[in-house]
Amino acid sequence: MLFRILRAAAVPAVLLAVAGPARAQGSLNLYCSVQVEWCQAAANSFGRETGIRVAVSQKGSGEVLAQIRAEAQNPRGDLWYGGTGDPHLQAAEENLSAEYRPAALDQLHDWAQKQARDSRYRTVGIYAGALGMAFNPELLARRNIAAPACWRDLLDARFRNEIQMANPQSSGTAYVMIATIVQIMGEDPAFEYLKALHRNINAYPRSGTGPIKSVARGETAVSVSFVHDAVTERLGGFPVSSALPCEGTGYEVGSMSIIRGARNLRNAQRFYDWALTPAAQQLGAETKQFQTPSNRTTPVPPEAPQMSQIRLIDYDFAKYGASAERRRLIERWDREVNALP
Ligand code: PLP
Repeated sequence: MLFRILRAAAVPAVLLAVAGPARAQGSLNLYCSVQVEWCQAAANSFGRETGIRVAVSQKGSGEVLAQIRAEAQNPRGDLWYGGTGDPHLQAAEENLSAEYRPAALDQLHDWAQKQARDSRYRTVGIYAGALGMAFNPELLARRNIAAPACWRDLLDARFRNEIQMANPQSSGTAYVMIATIVQIMGEDPAFEYLKALHRNINAYPRSGTGPIKSVARGETAVSVSFVHDAVTERLGGFPVSSALPCEGTGYEVGSMSIIRGARNLRNAQRFYDWALTPAAQQLGAETKQFQTPSNRTTPVPPEAPQMSQIRLIDYDFAKYGASAERRRLIERWDREVNALP
């Protein structure tokens, strides 16, 4: 176990211009892959402290990676904040992000420092969260269906058309799920599993937070989601519970990267240092996001799922964040699973 110490349908990209205090200190273009409330709180708080005008564009992890790649010759974003760690590692390997050693590096948990080392200091861990299954207990009770406890339960005929997971081409969450199943079962059995699961899936929304919002609204009974997202929905008053799969589960090291060729490089570096401070990391919990923060001195919110109590696999981030491997697995999923009727 690595953690002894112990994060709608398609979410549209939004643009939020956040005004800072009167003294002009330039601007920062933030590509943000956490939930929009947290993106906005981070932009507001950093803008207030520094006078830097922050423009936020919120998109899923896979979508931001595609955008940064498309803009590589003429970067429009400065910093990519949040989202699952694998695509940040892929960006590092593809030379789309810039090396930076933040001041607080040695205050971070080992898993967050490892993310920096694995990328040759082109990304860093900002939070961690375990993957699991979320469900709407009221809907399940009405349909007289028992809740899932294991990954293999999701194949059961009782869940026909009752499950949502996001599309791994746009969602980092969905890719963590595929990489997790591959690591637990081996690749070919994992793809047999994903094909069988396809029969029970009613939609593959673009964003990783889409499926759990559908669970909360009672539009689908079950989703593949980060378990901290279930806490958020519950606190929002929705009937959402979660289960940690009996076979063990994978997790994300949510990350942050400076975009290579950033026009506002100095401001991006300031944000990078700021985002690793306990005060900045507490904004997650303040906006009801309950990932485990990466700075050892940031208080872990009591509502956060206890990573040390979860049966986590030894997720091989270097292998599954490698560009060729991530691309290959997503293409295989698209060809063999998504193309099925
Ligand atoms: N929202 C939350 C709360 C997360 O923990 C994460 C993963 O870092 C994401 C969104 C990323 O979303 P997506 O799966 O669309 O890349």
